[in-house]
Amino acid sequence: MEAIEVTGLRKTYRGRDAVAGIDLVVARGEIFALLGPNGAGKTTTVEILEGHRRRTGGDVRVLGEDPGKAGSAWRSRIGIVLQDADDAADLTVHEMVRHVAGFYPSPRKPDEVIELVGLTAKRNSKIRTLSGGQRRRVDVALGIVGRPELLFLDEPTTGFDPEARRQFWELIRTLAGDGTTIVLTTHYLDEAETLADRLAVLAGGRIVAEGTPATLGGRGAAEALVSWRSDGELHTEQHADPSDLLRRLLDTGVDLTTLTVTRPTLEDTYLTLIGAAR
Ligand code: ATP
Repeated sequence: MEAIEVTGLRKTYRGRDAVAGIDLVVARGEIFALLGPNGAGKTTTVEILEGHRRRTGGDVRVLGEDPGKAGSAWRSRIGIVLQDADDAADLTVHEMVRHVAGFYPSPRKPDEVIELVGLTAKRNSKIRTLSGGQRRRVDVALGIVGRPELLFLDEPTTGFDPEARRQFWELIRTLAGDGTTIVLTTHYLDEAETLADRLAVLAGGRIVAEGTPATLGGRGAAEALVSWRSDGELHTEQHADPSDLLRRLLDTGVDLTTLTVTRPTLEDTYLTLIGAAR
């Protein structure tokens, strides 16, 4: 059974389509990223999958059930990290994590979770005294303490410093390695590239491309751009396979410190897809 199966999903707000008929399958154990510009419909889609918003149309199965009708047993199998969690609580980190652990049938140990998200030094600090990035880590801790089979992360690393982002990526890989299915939305293309097994780009409520980070939008077949300088002049050539050109440049004694070989980055591909969808 797949973790998520969506066909023809639609959501209309006051007669306007925010999600205009999307099909999606996420396999068990997969890390799936949803990309797209502000207002593309990512949060709406994810909140419907979480059972937090009603859909206007289409068929949705999450862990085999319709999230619009599923009960608390289903809910306890899912972890959620919302975009704007408001947790300026008067509780300490440990108290909060322990409190939320109490809602689940077989939670992780609170101290284990606090360590996983790198907050051990803040275990006994009140949440309202934490920095923005540290509070976001508390959100992640609360999302995983119930040992979810499926974890939704809506822009999880917004406000993280670079080191915290790397640590968070490690955590996500560890969870996925243990079999947790992960669905994340992000505006960070490097995050999608490093984490996702597969990703989809949403624009205007539709999926405009879907694939692996390496193949999305024809990226795998894109030509390499070779550039170098000789006699003070910049030369560029595009080739599917630049081997012959590179050999020739070596033979002709071109200054190799000026040589670059590039293919479109995930960001280049993404921006092209989004531009074409306008
Ligand atoms: P972002 O990257 O900014 O988080 P998003 O892709 O998550 O954007 P959504 O929040 O799903 O986008 O919004 C999709 C569209 O639906 C937007 O045009 C938004 O204005 C509209 N929308 C979202 N929630 C509501 C609501 N509760 N009532 C009316 N319109 C809404």
